[in-house]
This record gives sequence, structure tokens and C-alpha cells, in this order.
Amino acid sequence: MSDYRLLAPETCKKLFDSDSLLPTTAKNCSTPDSLFPIPAKKLLDSRLLVPDSCKKICSTSHTPCSRFLQKNARLPSPRFRLHTSCCVLQQEYANSNRFCHLIESRDVTLKRPMRGVARLRGFGVKANKDGNFNSGKMAPDSKVNEETVEHKESKETEYKTKIVWFNVLLFVYLHASFCYGIYLALTSASWKTCVFAYIYGNLGGLGITAGSHRLWSHRSYKAKWPMRALLCAFASIAAQNDIYEWCRDHRVHHKFTETSADPHNIKRGFFFAHMGWLMCKKHPDVSKKGKNVYLEDLWADPIVRFHRRFYIPMVLFFCFYLPTMIPVWCFNESVWNSFFIAGLTRYCFSLNMTWLVNSAAHKYGDQPYDKYIEARENAVVAFFGHGEGWHNYHHVFPWDYSTSELGYTLNLTKILIDFMALIGQAYDLKTAHPEMIKNRKLKTGDGTRMKSVEHPEHELCIQS
Ligand SMILES: [Zn+2]
Ligand SMILES: [Zn+2]
Repeated sequence: MSDYRLLAPETCKKLFDSDSLLPTTAKNCSTPDSLFPIPAKKLLDSRLLVPDSCKKICSTSHTPCSRFLQKNARLPSPRFRLHTSCCVLQQEYANSNRFCHLIESRDVTLKRPMRGVARLRGFGVKANKDGNFNSGKMAPDSKVNEETVEHKESKETEYKTKIVWFNVLLFVYLHASFCYGIYLALTSASWKTCVFAYIYGNLGGLGITAGSHRLWSHRSYKAKWPMRALLCAFASIAAQNDIYEWCRDHRVHHKFTETSADPHNIKRGFFFAHMGWLMCKKHPDVSKKGKNVYLEDLWADPIVRFHRRFYIPMVLFFCFYLPTMIPVWCFNESVWNSFFIAGLTRYCFSLNMTWLVNSAAHKYGDQPYDKYIEARENAVVAFFGHGEGWHNYHHVFPWDYSTSELGYTLNLTKILIDFMALIGQAYDLKTAHPEMIKNRKLKTGDGTRMKSVEHPEHELCIQS
């Protein structure tokens, strides 16, 4: 147990100042506008923070975060109106949560000794102003603490991937159908069926990007019920779980990115992040940590509740029946051709395009806004994902409805939302200020895309 070292967050500035190994983190920790991933990254290289005290990091050592937490115990609140500073704070809150989880994950696996600080055991240890450690609520050598850690460790190492063979067979069949659909498209189907399948697939994609993702998951804009109903129908075309479940997984992904609690953790490999995560049982941390994710705002929306209740019939109708029958009714296409091309091939293709956001956009591309996270700017994924490939930006500014600073470049979803705003269906569109983007680039970017190309068309964080 002597391998586990603890630092007291509330005095981290003093500690870091006194620690020759981490001279720069001291400044980051104490600067109000600093962002967590920088010190987190450096800290995790050599030491651990007390998991139980993670909140203290926010409440004591991080001034704006503290203000934010005091005002908003639960996030994101539907009643909470974002304003300029809170946009930053919301991001910092998300970062700090991820930071805490990273620490929690690492504190049971890191075993190498630390240099430059006193050796400590157990949780709840505090450091005084001189950088010396005193026991806090729990004694450093407490057996309970050791058992807790050992229990955690065993749970961590015990986890083994359990394959869900039913899902494996389902995806094998779906991809085989995709190949057969391509064969039919090239040999016997009408070109009109192929064009229809492509357009219909894009509608489904927009249901996910503009609806499940930017509207419901991130609340990056608001929409009147006709638009929400339309997006709900579009999301049924895509059939990627009901809106509630999709948003839950996605919020967990953002909150615990690149940890064991991330449903499609890129650290487990490209294939796992792409589709492997749907073929095996979830890591226990996904469910455990996922319970803390706020979802009440979703449940408050009757359209989300409706979609969850009638998900199966809606998918059967919008994802399979309608795309099969429209070419039959309109172009005299055979049901067989239509089912495989506009039904299964279109469905399989759109699934893979969405999955690319979780895999390719977390592995290949630049990191202009935060080089300490795996999310990347990927133009190919942006093209096929209607703008979702600008993923480094999205993870840094998840509340921005356009998910990029590049305007309409490879961003069909932004075009749709802007059009809907034009006809009064979408409102309160939130977007990041160029200064904020620039500062972030200077602070944590990898040096690419240093020139912004467009100014936002909307006021920063419009209040309703
Ligand atoms: Zn992501
Ligand atoms: Zn997102």
C-alpha cells in the first residue's frame, strides 16, 4: 500500500510549489482560468490525488469551478441558463469530472514509487501549508482504506470482455446484407432506388446529429415541438437506440472520455470504439459512473418519452417499412431490391458513418484545441458525419451547436439548424466566441489551425 501516494487538492498550489518535479502545474492549479487537462495530464504521469477529495479540487483550489458547483449542484439543469462565464465553467466542470475519474482509475493500478514527496497510505490525507502531510478524516494506515483500494484493484483486474454473440451475429448479417445490397445496386436495381437510399440515409443521419446529439445530448440549441418531432422521426430512421438511451451513452462518453467508464473508450482500440463496444457487455464502470449522469431534462421532454415507449414500432416503420415501400410505390422497384438497398444497406452504411466519429475521429487528425485528449479534427468523418468529424473542437466546446469554428464547411447539420432557426423552429443557438477559441488554442492546442476562419453568427451563449 505504500505505493499509493496522495496529494491534498486543497493545498495543491503549495504542494506543487514545493515539489520540484512539477513546477508548472503549480501555476496551472492556482490560476482561475486554467483548465484541468493540463495539470491532470502531468499529474497522472507521476502521482495520484485523493479520489474522495476530487470535489475539493473544484471547491477549494479552483475558484470559478467552485462558484459553479455551489450554484449548480446537478448538471446540466434545464433551468440553468448559460452565460459567458458559465460556458467556460461548464466545460471546466466536465473536464474536472473526467480528471477525477482518470485519477480514480489510476489510483488502483499505479504502483511505482513517487519521488519528492512524503510517502502516504490510505485516503483522506491532507497536506499542511508547508507541504507536509497529516491525516485527514481517515487514518493513513487504516486497514479499511487498504481493503477498499485492494477491492478496487481486484475488481479492476478481474474485468474481462464478455462477448454478446447475438449482437455479433446480428452485425455479421447486417454487413453481409450490405455487400449483397451493393451487388443488387450494381446489377438489378433502379438508380432511383440508390439515390433514394442515399437521401433517406442522410435524413436518418441528421436525426442523430441535429437531434439526439446536438439538441438532446448537449442542449446546444432549443427547438419547438414540430422540429423535435421531425428529428425524432429522423432518429427512428437511423435506429441507433431511442433518444434517451443514445443521449445517456453520449453524456457518459463526454463525462468520462478515454476512461473505463467511456462506453466506446478509444484506449481499448479502434475496433472496440467503432463497433466492438456494441458486441460485448459494458464495462462495470460505464453503468456505475453512468448513474451519476444527469438525464432528467431528457425525461421531461414528452417527445423523448414517446420515442422510448414506441421505439420498436417506430424503427420498424421508419427504418425498414417506409424505405422498402417508397421505391416500390414510386419507382416500381421490387420489394427484394428495395429492402436490401434502401433498408439494410442504407442502415448499415449510416451506422458505420456514425461509428467513425467514435473511432476515426478519436484517432486520426489534428488537435488544434486540446492536444491532451484523443478527439481529433477529421475532415473525412466530418463529410460522412454531417459535421461531427470536427471532434477535437466538439469535445472542448460540446455546447456549441455547430461543433466547429469552420462555418458550413462539411457541416450539413449546421445548415439544417440554421435553416430551422431562420423559419423560427430552432432558437437560442449557442456558439463559442472567437476569443475563447483562440485562447484555448494557445493554451492547449497542438499549434494547428491557428487562424480562425469565421466569426460566429450568434451571440455567445444567448440567454432565453
Ligand atoms: Zn467523442
Ligand atoms: Zn457530443
